Amino acid sequence: MEDQGPKEEHITVAVRIRPFVPRELANGISSAWELPGPTSIKEVTGQRFFVYDRVYEQHVSTEKIFDEQCEKIIWKLMEGFNGCIFCYGQTGSGKTFTMHGSRKTQPGFVPLTIDTIFAYIQQTPDKEFLIRCSYLEIYNENINDLLNPNGLNLQVQEDKKNGIKIVGATEEVCSSINQVNSLLYLGETHKQFASTEFNSRSSRSHCIFRIIVESKSRDPRLKNLNMATLNLIDLAGSESAAVHGPTASLNRTREMKYINRSLLTLATVIMRLSDKANSIPVPYRDSKLTRLLRPALEGESKVVIICNISPSIDSYDETLSTLKFAQRAK
Ligand code: ADP
Ligand code: MG
Repeated sequence: MEDQGPKEEHITVAVRIRPFVPRELANGISSAWELPGPTSIKEVTGQRFFVYDRVYEQHVSTEKIFDEQCEKIIWKLMEGFNGCIFCYGQTGSGKTFTMHGSRKTQPGFVPLTIDTIFAYIQQTPDKEFLIRCSYLEIYNENINDLLNPNGLNLQVQEDKKNGIKIVGATEEVCSSINQVNSLLYLGETHKQFASTEFNSRSSRSHCIFRIIVESKSRDPRLKNLNMATLNLIDLAGSESAAVHGPTASLNRTREMKYINRSLLTLATVIMRLSDKANSIPVPYRDSKLTRLLRPALEGESKVVIICNISPSIDSYDETLSTLKFAQRAK
């Protein structure tokens, strides 16, 4: 066979273990996991051992993870390729910290992405770019517009020419970093507006920040127009299945059913996509999340999944389930 050089991966799965939080430190909780090398993780007391594309230890910064895993996806986006960056894990494992972080102390993937995009535009004077952003939430299988409090239960339309359209979703044109930041701020306000129980609601919904990039050459003889979408997804907490019990309220049970279904569908879709030899159809239509993300998951799209875990022995069962998800995705 011909040597085609190093192949670019379609799906990358990395694990990030967060540091102990003050509460865990105060209670002297011990660590359930150790990291023997840059791609493996092992039980402290036990036999379980997992290997991934990359495992990040407690003290690695979000910026370093971004540089290693996400920056190349942003460059691809600017050249016209779709992409998805996911944070998966139980509530409290560091998904939002990784995705949003804080601009001042440790910026997350979203602000780092925005900086990278605008830096790219500045360094590419021969092309003209148009950036549009949407901010969506999927809660109980309903797609809501976080940029418009009246945009509830939006419908997904499949269109042969343009791929997927979310009917009525706000797509705000942004020409500066500050403009994107104001949109993010607006989205956060609506998240809180939507619920008095902000934290619990945010752990039961998937939040998707979408950046649509259109570009064309400034040379009038070159006509081709590129368009691509990047999705940055802070997934609902993966623990829903475990806390499912006889005491759960009807509403809670319904929420959990939907979260389970969409996370399970996501796992199946990712598994089918990474299994190139298999020709079984990919069940995109089984959840809103995968329907919406389809064009950014298939074909030449680039996908990165960061599986966030807690070091704590208290979270052992949930961490194990995340590590198993991560292994299936590979
Ligand atoms: P999730 O979104 O998965 O529910 P969070 O991102 O809210 O979890 O993280 C839970 C807590 O842990 C927060 O207080 C957060 O600041 C802290 N945390 C998470 N990851 C890190 C990290 N890599 N470094 C420092 N603190 C972190
Ligand atoms: Mg969160």
